[in-house]
Amino acid sequence: MEILLATGNPKKIAELRGMLEPLGFEALAPDDVGGLPTVIEDEPTFAGNARKKAISAARATEKWALADDSGLEVDHLGGAPGVGSARFAGSHGDDDANNEKLLALLAGIPAEQRGARFVCALALAAPDGEIAFETEGTARGRILEGPRGDGDFGYDPLFLFTEAGHAATGRGFAELTAEEKRAVSHRGRALRELAGSLPELMRS
Ligand code: IMP
Repeated sequence: MEILLATGNPKKIAELRGMLEPLGFEALAPDDVGGLPTVIEDEPTFAGNARKKAISAARATEKWALADDSGLEVDHLGGAPGVGSARFAGSHGDDDANNEKLLALLAGIPAEQRGARFVCALALAAPDGEIAFETEGTARGRILEGPRGDGDFGYDPLFLFTEAGHAATGRGFAELTAEEKRAVSHRGRALRELAGSLPELMRS
């Protein structure tokens, strides 16, 4: 069965594909269907933006479409950068500039006040554009004083995973292998939540 991934981010496509394919789904990227209409991500919540992207992609292609909207919420910044995570330092969506801005805003703030979480909202739309399933996953940590590790993307080099009781506890997201990150990440958690219901949802 096919699922269209309504995201142009190659890292997200790889992460989502890595979880869907073992379940027997063929994960299509926007390029596989000749591209998707541009969606303005102007909703105030991750869930709202994910829903909007999934509905638009399903309607355009008449396929099952899965959309993700995700970002980082920093306690000391009142939840910023939040839904604006990709464009924190400007519309260019430059990861290095975003990370530099985050470090500057937290300069001098002690470790115990640098708490943060990643959030990932997933929305699955049926080929007729109706939302069939929605879920949200989170991962709790804190913002490091400087980058650590060289894996993955976005704010990963500044994010120390702090939830107790996991192999990844006390390590930076950019220090984890793809598999280790999936085990605890906001996106991995949301996708596992969805995965259990997928076969049933797509049959009905
Ligand atoms: P979106 O593509 O609009 O969902 O933007 C998500 C933004 O949030 C990305 O550009 C990253 O800056 C950040 N982000 C989301 N998930 C992750 C992650 O797993 N690691 C690092 N940064 C992430």
